[in-house]
Amino acid sequence: MNSERILILIKPDGVRRNLTGEVLRRIEAKGYTLENIRMAEATPQILAEHYSELVDKSFYPSIVDYMTSGPLVAAIFTGQRVIEGVRSLAGATDPTTAAPGTIRGDLARDWGSDSVENIIHASDCPENAEKEIALWFAKVQAQR
Ligand code: UDP
Ligand code: MG
Repeated sequence: MNSERILILIKPDGVRRNLTGEVLRRIEAKGYTLENIRMAEATPQILAEHYSELVDKSFYPSIVDYMTSGPLVAAIFTGQRVIEGVRSLAGATDPTTAAPGTIRGDLARDWGSDSVENIIHASDCPENAEKEIALWFAKVQAQR
């Protein structure tokens, strides 16, 4: 059967707060398969591609500050409807009101920073997943 892929990032707040294992545990416990994983450091160039739909927003510079504030973890998970499933596990963008039981609802909050610190990125469609996998597992590696 044709299995879908998703790229997730455990953002710098998640790594800093020692929540890497907890986030991965939830996705694995749901039943998705870990295909690849690595530590990475975001750069403004990589982020401009990763968040290409957001670069013109007024809050974009604060996202760059947030995402370059420390190391992150990039991982690929696979499984039928994995994009829907992981985004459901992740919860709504705003962690203050994200549903309890979700990764963001349970593990993240507003700390008063300019950007929305919400622990996890999860690709939103198969095309973006493949684009982001190429970005974090090829280009970022090649630049080291
Ligand atoms: N973000 C932010 N301020 C905003 C909107 C988004 O800092 O007003 C950040 C936040 O970390 C979010 C990311 O930009 O996760 C991408 O935004 P998107 O709307 O794609 O949310 P997601 O798909 O991550 O839920
Ligand atoms: Mg998004």
